[in-house]
Amino acid sequence: MAPRTDDAYAVALQPCPFCGSSTVHIDGCDQVPHYWGQCDTCGANGPSAYAPDGDQAMTEALAAALWNQRASPVV
Ligand SMILES: [Zn+2]
Repeated sequence: MAPRTDDAYAVALQPCPFCGSSTVHIDGCDQVPHYWGQCDTCGANGPSAYAPDGDQAMTEALAAALWNQRASPVV
């Protein structure tokens, strides 16, 4: 199990794959802890990442990684 780091959320988000906007952030829900990338310009969001053990920072980092994969699909 990787040690938690305070900057786990400091993952640079890629621009929106749909509208090209760089105003994207990680949004989330605290009741059922899960997080996702959200575009502030066109409203595109997801994929969602769910917290396996309630670790918010780790799940936000995962959501950022998923967003970046979507923004830059592997070819
Ligand atoms: Zn967008």
